Amino acid sequence: MTMSQGTCDLMQRELAKCIKCGTCRSVCPVFQEVDSEALVARGKLRLVEAVLEGKLDYTPGFAERMSLCLLCKACASACPSGVKADKVFVKMREMLVEKRGLHAVKRFVFTWLKYRRIFDWSLRFGAVFQNLFFKTAQQGTGKEARIPIPVAGLNKRRIIPPLAVRPFRSQMPEVIKVLKPRMKVAFFTGCMMNYIYPDAAHSLVNVLRKNDIEVVVPQDQQCCATPIFTSGDEQTARQLIQHNIKVFKGLSVDAIVTGCASCGLAWKKEFPEILNTRAAIREARELSGKTFDISEFLIKNGYRQDFREVNLQVTYHDPCHLKRGQDVFKEPRELIKAIPGIVYKEMAGADQCCGSGGSFNLAYYDISRGINNRKVDNIAKSQAQVVLTGCSACRMHIADGLGRQGKPIQVWHTIQLLDMAYGEKGLEDERRENDGGDDY
Ligand code: SF4
Ligand code: SF4
Repeated sequence: MTMSQGTCDLMQRELAKCIKCGTCRSVCPVFQEVDSEALVARGKLRLVEAVLEGKLDYTPGFAERMSLCLLCKACASACPSGVKADKVFVKMREMLVEKRGLHAVKRFVFTWLKYRRIFDWSLRFGAVFQNLFFKTAQQGTGKEARIPIPVAGLNKRRIIPPLAVRPFRSQMPEVIKVLKPRMKVAFFTGCMMNYIYPDAAHSLVNVLRKNDIEVVVPQDQQCCATPIFTSGDEQTARQLIQHNIKVFKGLSVDAIVTGCASCGLAWKKEFPEILNTRAAIREARELSGKTFDISEFLIKNGYRQDFREVNLQVTYHDPCHLKRGQDVFKEPRELIKAIPGIVYKEMAGADQCCGSGGSFNLAYYDISRGINNRKVDNIAKSQAQVVLTGCSACRMHIADGLGRQGKPIQVWHTIQLLDMAYGEKGLEDERRENDGGDDY
């Protein structure tokens, strides 16, 4: 299969728009960390141009420069010419996969992600035996590697959250009913809320229930494919996207709700761009039109405001894929400020990337850590007790940074604060009381 003319046209169109002004240098987190023109949008676009014109080959060095991007969209939103540089880099990654093949580790991981049952069982197995390889971190909340494996920063005392012993979806019935439903929604959990942060997923369901909204949690859903298509493996991504569309299109629901910024962006904008048949694109568009981030959904459809007082000083971190990807940034702040007792402090650079960037932090932990240090400093200066966000990957990366710097500040998903403010029992509390179990 060769790259379509449409893909080349898209890249050429974006390249032609660039007036080489260098505005992207002032906002690119990677450039701020490494100070190299070859790693900022302007420089990388010139490299792409040279490759398309045949003046430069698809070398490992070029491939590396294409990988050194967080896809944070800061350059695209600051660009006076509207150059969507991040889109160009993803398209070029596809071209690189076509020319050079996919890295063996990624090929293995993406194949693993395709087989939901094997993926699910291996993570459950990993959760049971995780204490053999990881111990409680000396600082912060989470775990660190017992053996300093030189992978993904695990040899640098990286703090990671534990895997859930029981993934969220396995704890839920397929339909969570309420007495007098005013709406019915489907919950796309994403992998991280399912396997790492079921606390946030439970809160999301609790908040919907407390607002008389029936929730369907399809057990058959799979990864949203963001790590796959952003690595250039469009073919595997299409298989997962088509599977998810098949699972969700048959549901008679008013909306699809997500609590993950990248999953939401994928459903809303990227699925229709990646699919390649008219029928599939039409189906994806129909579903994308009714997909909402949970904060956006609550603001749009109304929510109970009989909150109890929560005396906390909090700040909010904007996930790149929520603010610049979906234009959702007022909604979470509005929800937070609606809770009595909350003292909200806007941090400096709230919408600057935390340095996670999906798999970027696994491949380039040191750069990612440097970017995260600035975020942690801004959080600390806000004097918040809790930093809220709307993305599990940001939550994980910020918690690592805070823990490493010994800052006793917690990181929650915004929906957890709302759940707490409603102050009633959730489904998992009722279940725990019946089972006497604790799944986290
Ligand atoms: S800000 Fe936009 S137009 Fe200016 S150099 Fe960067 S990509 Fe090109
Ligand atoms: S998407 Fe972010 S990391 Fe990538 S070039 Fe643009 S500003 Fe830099």
